[in-house]
Amino acid sequence: MEPFEDFCPIPEMFYSFETGEPFQTCNLCGKDLMEDRENYLIEKAFKKDETLFEYAMCWECREKMRGEISQQSMRLIDNYFDEHVSLIDWRKNCLESHGYSAEGWLSHCLVKGTSIDETEDYQIFGHFVDHNIDFSGFPYALSDAAMEDLVNLLSDKTLGFLNDTSNKLFGLDLGRRITIF
Ligand SMILES: [Zn+2]
Repeated sequence: MEPFEDFCPIPEMFYSFETGEPFQTCNLCGKDLMEDRENYLIEKAFKKDETLFEYAMCWECREKMRGEISQQSMRLIDNYFDEHVSLIDWRKNCLESHGYSAEGWLSHCLVKGTSIDETEDYQIFGHFVDHNIDFSGFPYALSDAAMEDLVNLLSDKTLGFLNDTSNKLFGLDLGRRITIF
């Protein structure tokens, strides 16, 4: 496989808290994520230093999940990001300030700009391709304030779907849900 410019080894903060190693399989369908060119997403939720949940999801499952979310909710989410952040500028600033250090990219909320250290709850997202993290759009962090804004945009049906999937994945009602944005 050709090395891509924006690819770097998976940073430890995206390792599975449970195993202390990189995620090996999709938490939904069990697909091997270490296969050459396999695209996947990792989301983790933290409260202070505690990991509330974590999962890896292959791109196919992610697309399927996104298909379940109403068009209206997806449009509102896209609008929210468009209104609050210029992803191109944000990415340029991250590269200038932090290079390819995921910790730097995740040090502030993408939307609110608040320091994650001063945030009670936050979630981090990253895009990965087999053994690498891809810096072409992710990774980013969202503070509890941004998550709250987003949740308020979702329809009851979408929220119900995300709650059900979260409960299925983690087996208990955390009062927190996956977002797959
Ligand atoms: Zn999958």
